[in-house]
Amino acid sequence: MQQFDVVVVGGSISGTLAAISAAERGLSVVLLERKKIPGEKVFCAEGISQSSYHYFFEKNPRWISTEINQVSLFSPSGRGVRIETPGAGYILERRVMERDLWVIAAEKGAELRCGVRVLDIGEWDGEGREVVTSDGKVWGRIVVGADGIESLTGRKTGLVRGLYPGEYHATLQYFAYHPSIEEDTAELHAGPFAPGGYGWVFPKGKGYGWVGIGVDTAKKSGNLRDLLKEFIRKRFGNIKIIFISGGGVPTTPLRKRTTDGVILVGDAGRFAIPVSGGGISHALYTGKLAGEVASEVLEKGPATAKRLSIFDKRWKREWGKEEKWYFIAKKIYMRMKDEDFEILYDVVKKLFEGKKIREFHPFEAVERILKASPHLLKLGKKLLGGYHGI
Ligand SMILES: Cc1cc2nc3c(=O)[nH]c(=O)nc-3n(C[C@H](O)[C@H](O)[C@H](O)COP(=O)(O)OP(=O)(O)OC[C@H]3O[C@@H](n4cnc5c(N)ncnc54)[C@H](O)[C@@H]3O)c2cc1C
Repeated sequence: MQQFDVVVVGGSISGTLAAISAAERGLSVVLLERKKIPGEKVFCAEGISQSSYHYFFEKNPRWISTEINQVSLFSPSGRGVRIETPGAGYILERRVMERDLWVIAAEKGAELRCGVRVLDIGEWDGEGREVVTSDGKVWGRIVVGADGIESLTGRKTGLVRGLYPGEYHATLQYFAYHPSIEEDTAELHAGPFAPGGYGWVFPKGKGYGWVGIGVDTAKKSGNLRDLLKEFIRKRFGNIKIIFISGGGVPTTPLRKRTTDGVILVGDAGRFAIPVSGGGISHALYTGKLAGEVASEVLEKGPATAKRLSIFDKRWKREWGKEEKWYFIAKKIYMRMKDEDFEILYDVVKKLFEGKKIREFHPFEAVERILKASPHLLKLGKKLLGGYHGI
């Protein structure tokens, strides 16, 4: 059986970053991906803030479909406010980006295996774990679970119990064409078609774009297709559908993402932002962090749970406060009624309309919104009882 320092399960964005980061530190790495071609079937609307993107990469036109300079927000009654955000966001071309990340991982020395499904993760043997795949077994001193929301790695190693309603958003989106889809404008819509979530229009250029909804699974009633149809009817009337995609997005963080010989990253570790479901930037961040931690830990000896816990500690030190905040914001968001969204709309309009926002920090925006609205703050405090962080 082939042995590696690091076995990465899942070769999307978090997995490729983990493989690159570990391989460039001199570790032996194998990257296992069940898809036959990297980058095929990406279930994502591909939006990322420019600041998050540039934390990792130089501008690469191959990886970017459009630049977002404006965000339009819509209340349930259909009132809309346009906020200027010059240079704030990108809509990516993940299909190409993921393929290129595979090439970079190979160049750094990682061994790549596409079309290989991981079937089981063995018990910790004191030094590492066996990984059973559709193409035989490998053994790794550390297994990085980058296998998405349904993470087999998380379930087999006891870090994740399962996936329950309320812990994730169910999403459905069309790649579609409509002449009113503006090349540099992202749209976010609140309304009854997206209970506990929102509708979006993310442009891909020339009138094409992602048109979708995300719905909290604790609040969802009815069929996602009907809800999406309702959103489309309200926003566009009619639309030319090219193809459909969708999937789950984790919205409830895990307490712990490491155990003996295992680190969970990206959606597998439920790192997506609870209130928005945006997971690309944290997938990139945690993938990279996993490679760094793997290198440090393996220098000292076996990757015990105690040693690997520095991954959780570093994440919490950098992002723990934000994660908690977002989770609170999600709880408030979940309980908001249409009339609360109308108030939120008024607050956002007052705070941001007519101003140029060059860098968008959702965390700061949520904080400002809550502080600017006694009603929303009161709602938040009522829901959260004794929480004094706000
Ligand atoms: C419809 C939709 C729209 C979204 N829009 C946005 C957005 O606009 N902006 C944003 O920031 N986030 C968005 N997200 C969330 C974002 O897509 C995820 O957070 C991100 O893709 C997580 O990356 P990942 O690498 O952790 O996991 P994934 O991208 O889910 O990749 C997991 C990989 O593991 C592989 N895999 C799984 N199981 C196995 C196995 N047993 N063996 C081998 N391989 C396996 C899969 O094939 C896949 O390639 C959206 C999500 C959805 C569903």
